[in-house]
Amino acid sequence: MKKRYALRFSPTLVEQPLVSKLVRTYDVDINILNADVASGRGGKLIVELSGTEKALADSVVWLSTTGVVVSEMIKELMFNDKGCIDCGACTAVCSSRALTMNSEWKLVYEASLCVACGLCVQACPMRLFEVSHEREA
Ligand code: SF4
Ligand code: SF4
Repeated sequence: MKKRYALRFSPTLVEQPLVSKLVRTYDVDINILNADVASGRGGKLIVELSGTEKALADSVVWLSTTGVVVSEMIKELMFNDKGCIDCGACTAVCSSRALTMNSEWKLVYEASLCVACGLCVQACPMRLFEVSHEREA
């Protein structure tokens, strides 16, 4: 799995090889998407970590114990259900089963199952979905 995080470093933490140690110790791959870090000043990285669910969870715990402030980056789906005509087109692309039709052929949206993949945005003929910009949780 992949998740994105914002990592905030204090000036002293910037001098330590934390990212390379993370990769070696927890068997995760790291892709640095944005870096605003300078020696003596600290800073912030936006990274994407790839690995098992446990490896990502352990990585976050370890980074936090070193003093790095870790925030997961999230996107959210916004759904204007008032305009829905229950055509079902969005349910065909939603592999997480957040969008399903009930026995009366009415759309049911279960927000807790949504992974904000955005596939329903294009699928809906009424343009009722929108995915928010990524932000820190
Ligand atoms: S964003 Fe993806 S997971 Fe969420 S409702 Fe739409 S298709 Fe389903
Ligand atoms: S595609 Fe749009 S109009 Fe059709 S069921 Fe889904 S939300 Fe409703």
